[in-house]
Amino acid sequence: MMKKKVTKSDWDLLEHLTALPGLSGFEEPVRRFIAQCLEQINVPFEVDSLGNLVAHIAGGGPRVLFVAHMDEVGHVVSKIRADGYLSIERIGGVSAAALSGQPVQVWTANGFLPGVVGVYPQHLERQEPEPPPRRPFVDIGVRSREEAVACGVKVGAVVTYAPNFTRLNQRLIRSKALDNRLGCYLLLQLAMQWGEKRPPTDLFLAFTVQEESNLRGAVPVARAVAPQYIVGLDVTLAFDTPDLAPLEQSEVVLGKGPALKIMDHLPGSLYGTIAHPGLRAHIENIAAQEGIPLQYEVMMGLTTAISPLAFIETGMAAIGLSIPSRYNHSPVEVVSTDDIEAAAMLLQVLVASPWPEEAGKGEIKSELKGGGG
Ligand SMILES: [Zn+2]
Repeated sequence: MMKKKVTKSDWDLLEHLTALPGLSGFEEPVRRFIAQCLEQINVPFEVDSLGNLVAHIAGGGPRVLFVAHMDEVGHVVSKIRADGYLSIERIGGVSAAALSGQPVQVWTANGFLPGVVGVYPQHLERQEPEPPPRRPFVDIGVRSREEAVACGVKVGAVVTYAPNFTRLNQRLIRSKALDNRLGCYLLLQLAMQWGEKRPPTDLFLAFTVQEESNLRGAVPVARAVAPQYIVGLDVTLAFDTPDLAPLEQSEVVLGKGPALKIMDHLPGSLYGTIAHPGLRAHIENIAAQEGIPLQYEVMMGLTTAISPLAFIETGMAAIGLSIPSRYNHSPVEVVSTDDIEAAAMLLQVLVASPWPEEAGKGEIKSELKGGGG
């Protein structure tokens, strides 16, 4: 698949990336595939002890670190029941509403076992006006704990949504794990575009771990690379469905381009991102010059891998670019190919354009002077 140059519409590559199982802390299958892709195009990379993979394409100009997390939300087996059903515990913010009835894959040393998350019969719901919450369980078709163990199931076995990549009306894509294999896909495209050239930026492409579980997986990468600029790639929520549109919460929708993250925040945590002003102006200018559509994201309820990175060492200039997504953290995330192609174009020109040398520090100073505060 990777022998040829990947073009902007190589959806086979994205489909393959989304099909791989890669829960937080269990990213090995994704990392292995990305490593193979990079080896084929002779792009050097290193893997740290947490499993972060960082590719380096040496170029002139400032050190710029692009970050996309490899991990997806999902479950691990917490108990193998006597009757052979599997109790599961979530890793990351799995959509509980979308779990019941889902086809899943239970991973063993010998590959995966197909399974399904049990569904409470509709017929009985009438008898229970308010059915009690039930712990989800996975049915892999065995009759006993012994049989499940003989099939290779262990406590801690990874349970992922079954791959289901599909085009919807040509312009949309539906799949599990678009959060954030889409970011990995965009970084791989950059590697293929620049791998044999010398870009005007010193380019670091980080495929990082443990975003969905604790957000901090990319911290050692930022410390090791010590970049002047950090650009995070991830998905965000689109508010263009009948349930979310009436909330009047956000302007982000599918099909109007990638969203520049102005602010996000995960309530109940100290995590959140506020765009670096110099970096924001730089990206806005580049997008305007090139006629690339850009939306603006102000988002309560989530944050991403770059949130902790701004505060490392003496502070780092960081910003997020988001691909709008419907039904996030469910098995049926939906994104727009127009947005993906616009994001790919924006990244391409960002790498090809000169960056301000001074991490936007001058701009901050002048803003402070003007702000009187
Ligand atoms: Zn994400």
